[in-house]
Amino acid sequence: MEAAAPDLIRAVVGFRQWRLRGPELWSVRADEAWTRGLQTAVCLNEVAHEGPAPQNGCTCGLYAWYAPPPRTSSAGTSDLVAGAIAAWGRVELHAHGLRAEHAMVVALALPFSWGAKRRNVLAAARALEVPAVPARRLVAAAREHGELVPRHMRPPDLTPNKRAAPGEPAPARLYAVADGLRQRR
Ligand SMILES: [Zn+2]
Repeated sequence: MEAAAPDLIRAVVGFRQWRLRGPELWSVRADEAWTRGLQTAVCLNEVAHEGPAPQNGCTCGLYAWYAPPPRTSSAGTSDLVAGAIAAWGRVELHAHGLRAEHAMVVALALPFSWGAKRRNVLAAARALEVPAVPARRLVAAAREHGELVPRHMRPPDLTPNKRAAPGEPAPARLYAVADGLRQRR
């Protein structure tokens, strides 16, 4: 993957999905709970490297996309929830998202549906001490905590036939970018 090391003073914000286990947030692809406050990435690759996560050339770090995932990627599920993080420390920028050393959840998106999922999102937000906002307000809620990664700092998408790649990538690709590694072997 192409990556760049930006010189970012303030926190940047990004967007993710998590899987709800009751009122708890878990990474979609990793056995990793997200709790209130600071999360710090740890490299779990079998061949460990020197220094903190993420490292260029590795896949470690806390993952987020530059834009919220499409509503359709979580709306039809009982347990996927979208939200925003603030990220800082070492940050690696990729075409559609970033990998960060430190992150914290700053907002969760409310589902359209009522019932258990909505109750779990509200309970998760209470436990994290973050707002649960309508999805259309997620970007604004995130920007209270940092900057969106400027477009000119994002490396180009080198995937064939996606040179311009404006807007949000396909859900399948989003899925590959977020929670790309740190999954159990
Ligand atoms: Zn690593």
